[in-house]
Amino acid sequence: PLPTIYAITPTYSRPVQKAELTRLANTFRQVAQLHWILVEDAAARSELVSRFLARAGLPCTHLHVPTPRRYKRPGLPRATEQRNAGLAWLRQRHRHQRAQPGVLFFADDDNTYSLELFQEMRTTRKVSVWPVGLVGGRRYERPLVENGKVVGWYTGWRADRPFAIDMAGFAVSLQVILSNPKAVFKRRGSQPGMQESDFLKQITTVEELEPKASNCTKVLVWHTRTEKVNLANEPKYHLDTVKIEV
Ligand code: UDP
Ligand code: MN
Repeated sequence: PLPTIYAITPTYSRPVQKAELTRLANTFRQVAQLHWILVEDAAARSELVSRFLARAGLPCTHLHVPTPRRYKRPGLPRATEQRNAGLAWLRQRHRHQRAQPGVLFFADDDNTYSLELFQEMRTTRKVSVWPVGLVGGRRYERPLVENGKVVGWYTGWRADRPFAIDMAGFAVSLQVILSNPKAVFKRRGSQPGMQESDFLKQITTVEELEPKASNCTKVLVWHTRTEKVNLANEPKYHLDTVKIEV
C-alpha cells in the first residue's frame, strides 16, 4: 500500500480563510492516501471550518488550540502550538501499533502545492528536502546537493541557519516522528526563521537529508502569500437581506 501522507495545516479565522482552505482542499483531493490534519488557532472548532470539512470529501482530523495572546506579535513565529497539536495527535494515534508507512509534512494554508510534490515526498525514508519558490527574499531557496547529499543551502536570508529551509521544504517519515517523541516546535529561544532548524536538528542531521525534486533543482511548492482584503466599503451594520458565509 502507498504510505499515507499526513498534512498538518495550521489555520486561523480571517476574511480569506475559506478561500484558502477551498484552494488547498482542491489540491489535496487529487492526492491519493492523504490525511489532512487541520488545526484551528482558536479556543474552539469554528462552525465555518467544521461545515467546510464535512463537505470537503477528504479524510481529515479537525483540531484546535489557541495561540496564547502574548505570542500573537509581529516578529514571533506563527502556528507553533497548532503544529505541535498535530504532532501530538499523530503520536497518540500510533501509540500502540508499529509505525505504518507514513510521511508527515507541514502545509500552511496559503502556499501553492504542485501534485508532483506529493509523489516526491511519498518516498521519504527519514527526512526529505526540496526547493521552495518565492521565499527568503529570492525567487527560490534550495538545498545544495553534491553526489546525492545536501552540502549547503542557496539562500539570501540568514545563511547561518543550520537548516536554511522553509516549513514547506521538507517532509518527515512517521517512523522518525514516533521514534523522536520529544521533538516539537519550541517557543522559548526560537528566533524568527529558526523554527525549521530548531525542529529538524532534534530529529536529523544535514548529512542524512534525502534530496527530492531532481536533486533539488525543481520548484514544486511556492511560499505564496495572500494580499490582505480591502473591506473599506463593508457596512457598519448588517444591511443585506440574507446572512452569507464567505
Ligand atoms: N497562522 C495561524 N495563526 C496565526 C497566524 C498564522 O494559525 O495567528 C497559520 C496560517 O494560517 C498559516 C501558517 O500559520 O497556515 C503560517 O502563517 P502565515 O502564512 O501568515 O506565515 P508566513 O506566510 O508569513 O510564513
Ligand atoms: Mn504563508
